Amino acid sequence: MSDLGEQPLRIAVIGAGISGLTAAHRLIELAEEKNSAIDLSVYEAAPRAGGLLGTERIGDYLVELGGDMFVTNKPWAVDLCKRLGLEDQLIETEKVNRRAFVLSKGKPVEVPLGFNLMAPARIWPMVVTPLLSWKAKLRMGWEYFVTPRRNVEEDESLASFVRRRLGKEALERLIQPLVGGIYTSDPEKLSLSATLPRFIDMEREHGSLIRAMRRQSKSASENQAATGARYSLFMTLKGGLQQLLDTLRDRVRENAELRTGHKLTKLEPLEAGYRLTFDVAGSSEPVVKEVDRVLLTTPAYASAKLVEGFASELAKPLRQIEYASCALVLSGHKLTDFTHPMDANGLVIPYVENRRILAVSFTSRKFPGRAPEGHILLRTFVGGALQPELMNCSDEEIKKFTLEELRDIFGLHAEPDFIEVSRYVGAMPQYHVGHAQRVAEIHKQAEKLSGFELAGNIYEGVGIPDCVHNAEAAVARLLGD
Ligand SMILES: Cc1cc2nc3c(=O)[nH]c(=O)nc-3n(C[C@H](O)[C@H](O)[C@H](O)COP(=O)(O)OP(=O)(O)OC[C@H]3O[C@@H](n4cnc5c(N)ncnc54)[C@H](O)[C@@H]3O)c2cc1C
Repeated sequence: MSDLGEQPLRIAVIGAGISGLTAAHRLIELAEEKNSAIDLSVYEAAPRAGGLLGTERIGDYLVELGGDMFVTNKPWAVDLCKRLGLEDQLIETEKVNRRAFVLSKGKPVEVPLGFNLMAPARIWPMVVTPLLSWKAKLRMGWEYFVTPRRNVEEDESLASFVRRRLGKEALERLIQPLVGGIYTSDPEKLSLSATLPRFIDMEREHGSLIRAMRRQSKSASENQAATGARYSLFMTLKGGLQQLLDTLRDRVRENAELRTGHKLTKLEPLEAGYRLTFDVAGSSEPVVKEVDRVLLTTPAYASAKLVEGFASELAKPLRQIEYASCALVLSGHKLTDFTHPMDANGLVIPYVENRRILAVSFTSRKFPGRAPEGHILLRTFVGGALQPELMNCSDEEIKKFTLEELRDIFGLHAEPDFIEVSRYVGAMPQYHVGHAQRVAEIHKQAEKLSGFELAGNIYEGVGIPDCVHNAEAAVARLLGD
């Protein structure tokens, strides 16, 4: 690392979500490794660190406010937990409930075993599933023979790819809700190359998703046999994701300044370094600070506003990234208050089912310690890119229609132990067609600024592991490694 020399480098990280906290932690780690001093400050506009993530106790429930788990096939979040000494706190999803439902004509139906977001690894569960008509199943089977697209370099929407390879019904009944559940997006606009590039690679390398899945599942089972037990696909921490946030925050506080209630309102380049002006909660006096390097982990629209005065070519692609909003309805219930056994990880709902909820995560059926014995913690998603109008409803209206939907779908027949609404306005970046080119342009323009970097859920993916990886890579660039 070239830049951690004798004089402590003054570095500011803006935003203390998972991206900002990870970046700050990485800076501290690198400084320790190199035995160098840095003068690091982290500034967060909100009263608390954590951004979109956080865990609360509500009565005897342990409630996740934003995300409730992360994937392990992208190793960066697990690696970070290990480096923080949290490995023994990681927990896997409960084996018995490792399945998901899709709503089909008003009824929860199991996602066919081995179906991986877009492609079946096993044929028989697809043949017998009641989710699709015979016509749709035959059309999906025909995927084996569909000619691969020629102009693979040109970005394509998820909807176009799926219609072309698997047919319209597979898109509407299975893939839109499964993928939409992750990105809360419109599949007609969602960029496949920016979100699920492995399916493009499958088409390119194997000519067919089904062929690719069959080959991959064979080599995966051979690998698994060779390497022994692996982590489950999803994990969290015993104390919830807050445990990761708290550990990161404490580590940052021991080695740097962490200021909440500090909103960056002005960023000005100096001959060397940057001048930062903050609005401070509870004070009419702005705080001004000068640093050598700055890392923004703020949403794209906020970053655009901060740089437009001196880097309009960078502000342009940042401003083009659209955001969706959603609400999360958190509720606790007695299990016996449902006629349905609720024995899964959750339910996703196709847009064509015409419901007012997008998905329901059965958080306490996935992980132990989230609800008292005999109870269940649900997290119901509302809104997203396809139903933005629902965000205009009041919290009371959202609670009311959520309970009506739970009654109708799962036979809920009693009042919940608790019910709360948490809103995420302008929180979900939309990876629309052309996203990879926009991100490339952002990087190209950001490179022109000295001592300046960007990180966050806009660039490599919205998931926690993506944010961790992206933040650590941004730190390496910031230090010129
Ligand atoms: C409801 C929901 C459920 C999700 N579920 C999952 C899940 O289960 N698993 C998963 O992997 N991912 C999940 N995600 C996605 C994941 O949580 C996010 O992508 C990730 O937390 C984003 O982290 P971040 O630090 O990049 O951004 P943020 O968390 O948005 O942090 C940015 C921070 O910058 C601060 N800020 C903004 N402007 C300024 C300013 N001018 N000055 C100072 N500070 C500023 C903000 O207050 C915020 O704290 C979910 C997201 C949502 C909304």
